[in-house]
Amino acid sequence: SYRKGGYHAVRVGDLFNGGRYIAQRKLGWGQFSIVWLAYDTRTSSYVALKIQKSAAQFAQAALHEIEVLSAVADGDPSNEKCVIRLIDHFKHAGPNGQHLCMVLEFLGDSLLRLIKYSRYKGLELNKVREICKYILTGLDYLHRELGIIHTDLKPENILLVSTIDPSKDPIRSGLTPILERPEGSINGGSTSTMTIVEKKLKRRAKRAVANISIRRASMGGIELPKPERCLDGIDMRCKVVDFGNACRANKQFAEEIQTRQYRAPEVILRAGYSFSVDMWSFACTAFELATGDMLFAPKSGQGFCEDEDHLALMMELIGKMPRKIAIGGAQSKDYFDRHGDLKRIRRLKFWSLDRLLVDKYRFSETDAREFAEFLVPLLDFTPEKRPTAQQCLQHPWLSLRNSTRDETKNKSNVEKVDVGMSKLEIKVGK
Ligand code: ATP
Ligand code: MG
Ligand code: MG
Repeated sequence: SYRKGGYHAVRVGDLFNGGRYIAQRKLGWGQFSIVWLAYDTRTSSYVALKIQKSAAQFAQAALHEIEVLSAVADGDPSNEKCVIRLIDHFKHAGPNGQHLCMVLEFLGDSLLRLIKYSRYKGLELNKVREICKYILTGLDYLHRELGIIHTDLKPENILLVSTIDPSKDPIRSGLTPILERPEGSINGGSTSTMTIVEKKLKRRAKRAVANISIRRASMGGIELPKPERCLDGIDMRCKVVDFGNACRANKQFAEEIQTRQYRAPEVILRAGYSFSVDMWSFACTAFELATGDMLFAPKSGQGFCEDEDHLALMMELIGKMPRKIAIGGAQSKDYFDRHGDLKRIRRLKFWSLDRLLVDKYRFSETDAREFAEFLVPLLDFTPEKRPTAQQCLQHPWLSLRNSTRDETKNKSNVEKVDVGMSKLEIKVGK
């Protein structure tokens, strides 16, 4: 997609915004943009440079994201509300067109990566609590002070704050800024024609960046020796990112919002939505952090679609949806009969959240009960009944300490398979 209307090809040493920013290395990419680590010569610090694809619809989306991010920054001058900070934005002309660029503070790995490092076993509950406080602080700010709904909260969109500041501690971070384009490279050229010097620089920068994140370099590639150890003593400060889909509560433009697994029931049923959709996604995220598994991972099957499976999974965990809610959405008739029962998935296997935590994830009875008490109110089918981020921040679970969960025990894989199969059989049989 490095063509007209698409990504802008960047090379190490490329200059942006009149020479203020110098490209260092690629950090990642998404559907809309590529993101590079850049050196800000004005502040002598590192930033993340998000370069949007150039076609009109991407430019439009970037303008919206910039508008939201500006409001987020304006309302939080001291940068303490746990949301990503927009530093600057500008246009950059390249061979593929005009690209809107956002300069963001440089953050570390996503929570999804953190979950991977735990080998999908989940994090210690004390760490989950810390992370939850930061996410809730961010949500409370967005909801109550700005009237913004994020609409795409999930582990991938929460990034850790780098513990080492490379501009203050270049030796420990292993980062030294590349200030000049390596010799022999041609402006605007393809990324595949890199000189040897460039390749070397890129490799060096890559190693350096790895050190900033969760000691990735010391973990030695794919085979992670003792991932739990690697997560020890890491500051769990994090921030909410990716405001490309955020909207104002009074100015919604999309009916279908949120990533599938984190989608609230009222969104599936097209019954309208508000801030409480983020609280639903928050509960799904907290569960995933603590267990390493997604709370709901719906699949379509014989005779039923992903949406109906999703609604069934929700009811199996939370209980039957109140009839009024079940039949209240524009899409309700597709999935529910007039009694409020699912049309194609008739026999549900109810399993309460605290039993799930004990039986499948080997939580102690106490940990399971306490965690479930925190999560269950957030998973209310009636959106208005879900606690707000502000109320949630007051929950006693967040101030608990010394979890008794036995971290050495693995969650039972046998049970996992059994559960999946029995559910599948029941559904296919109908
Ligand atoms: P999406 O398809 O998810 O909407 P996008 O084009 O909007 O993608 P982002 O998700 O914002 O792009 O960023 C793409 C990737 O770049 C992220 O997954 C992350 O790895 C990296 N990234 C983004 N922002 C930062 C940052 N501030 N610091 C470090 N890395 C970042
Ligand atoms: Mg993203
Ligand atoms: Mg985005």
